[in-house]
Amino acid sequence: MSLAAVLLAAFTMSDLAAQPAADPIRYTLRFPAPHTHYVEVEAAVPTGKRSQVELMMAVWTPGSYLVREYERHVEGLAATGDGGRALAVSKPVKNRWRIETGGAATVTVRYRVYGREMTVRNNWIEKGFAMLNGAPTFLTLGDGAVHAHEVTIEPAAGWKASATPLMPVAGRPHTYRADDFDTLVDSPIVVGNPVTRTFTVDGKNHTLVLEGDPSLFDADRAAADVQKIVEAGRAVMGRLDYPHYFFLNMVTESGGGLEHKNAFLTMSSRFTTRTRRAYIDWLNLVGHEYFHNWNIKRLRPIELGPFNYEAENYTRGLWVGEGFTDYYGALLVKRAGLSTAAEYLDELSGSIERVQTRPGRGVQPVDMASFDTWIKQYRPDENSTNTSIDYYDKGATIAFLLDAKIRKASNGARTLDHAMRLAYERFAGAKGYTPDQFRATMSETAGIDLSAWFADAISSTKELDYTEALDFYGLRFATVDPATARATMGASTRSDNGRLVVSVVRRGTPAHDAGLNVDDEILAIDDIRVRADGLVARMDQYKPGDTVRVLVARRDRLTTLDVRLAPEPGRPWRLSVRPDQTPEQKTRMDAWLSR
Ligand SMILES: [Zn+2]
Repeated sequence: MSLAAVLLAAFTMSDLAAQPAADPIRYTLRFPAPHTHYVEVEAAVPTGKRSQVELMMAVWTPGSYLVREYERHVEGLAATGDGGRALAVSKPVKNRWRIETGGAATVTVRYRVYGREMTVRNNWIEKGFAMLNGAPTFLTLGDGAVHAHEVTIEPAAGWKASATPLMPVAGRPHTYRADDFDTLVDSPIVVGNPVTRTFTVDGKNHTLVLEGDPSLFDADRAAADVQKIVEAGRAVMGRLDYPHYFFLNMVTESGGGLEHKNAFLTMSSRFTTRTRRAYIDWLNLVGHEYFHNWNIKRLRPIELGPFNYEAENYTRGLWVGEGFTDYYGALLVKRAGLSTAAEYLDELSGSIERVQTRPGRGVQPVDMASFDTWIKQYRPDENSTNTSIDYYDKGATIAFLLDAKIRKASNGARTLDHAMRLAYERFAGAKGYTPDQFRATMSETAGIDLSAWFADAISSTKELDYTEALDFYGLRFATVDPATARATMGASTRSDNGRLVVSVVRRGTPAHDAGLNVDDEILAIDDIRVRADGLVARMDQYKPGDTVRVLVARRDRLTTLDVRLAPEPGRPWRLSVRPDQTPEQKTRMDAWLSR
């Protein structure tokens, strides 16, 4: 962040003591032709009688760390002043519009936004409904001051309801208020005819909102189970700090989730509640996004607020913000009684397996994976697995190891739950924590100095040691017998119109050593044609240690490579309960997996 950006960020810091003095920016959202995927935005912008004002659109949205250039979907921006007089508008930079006010106290700005990206960080508008996010929708005054924002939605014909964590304005249907831009950006809006269910925990309303095609989605069952996840989360963190929480789930055959302070936005299939596997996956996603209301939205790395909406905001803390959230997401589902111990261990094993089979774990420390998320995590390519580590997976794995460490060091008296609550009491709200403060809080809860362990786990590429955690709970990893292992080249492939094409070449595999390249088309092995679906069966003709001649087409030129096959690694990172788990170990595991 540049010095100017730091100053700007300091000025945009919002707290309750600095209530906005001026009139709010008043937006009206209209959908005259929703089937064309546009929202028409009208904004009445108070100018403070300045001769010029600049309006700014965010280029990214918090929680999704990539500059997405939302301003590219803005079109037809025009401004009028007193008496409807047209005002001059210019663009000094890609995401700002400068308006000559002519001395008007309020200028009216109109523009249209195209929305047809079914992801949790953008907009979607169609005949039946609209899903809007703040960052890609609202221009705001770019003067660095705190401004209130008021939003009135005029639903399209046939749309009856709007749902958003924005504060409703009493007596004015579909009208909401945000005291600052952060709140506006942090509050998705769903308009249409959603199916809703509301339940209460701790006297607070929680509303499940299903939009898209929820006709096959079991809303009653989902709401009852989401309530159990809320209760399990409350048992971990001890308090609910939002006024009203909205679980906004778009039933649109898409995926993903994004956290907000008083809501989350997720996407799912219409068949979600129909199979146990899909449903547990969705509940795990709910657990993750919901746990964010504490971890990252209120308890956050110091760098993640106030945000600079016009540039990258760097933090080394996403191994906590995302990784620990991932750990708790599935754990809440287990503690809520919605998944079995085996299902939970399978989920956790997935994180561990992805860490331990990713060559990039030896290249990139997890704190740097967080720092470089803007150029790596959100921009993966065919070599990412070799050069980077995923802070979700490694962060969740570190949380698992840390939880066991705290439990062991305190003889079961304290857990990661206690540590997270202590961190929350100290650093939640406007403060944020530094990496040292967070680690020191963990050590303090454990009652032992964990700084050397953290330095290795977080800031180095040393291998993680699972021995202590496995011994503590009586768990083991799967054993793989090398004598029965199948032979493999170690490259991932895809079928491309019936062609067998290499998609990923992992470091240290026979394919890597032999010089097989991504996008090579594998034509034949030992002079016999291999079809796109025939590689596995062909490999079964060989043993590990055999050398095969692989004929590939590389940019249509035929090339032959000798590849010495290795044993397939199997899946040695799957956790299971040891057959000789002691009663003491079982007690510890039950304490870990139960409320
Ligand atoms: Zn997350």
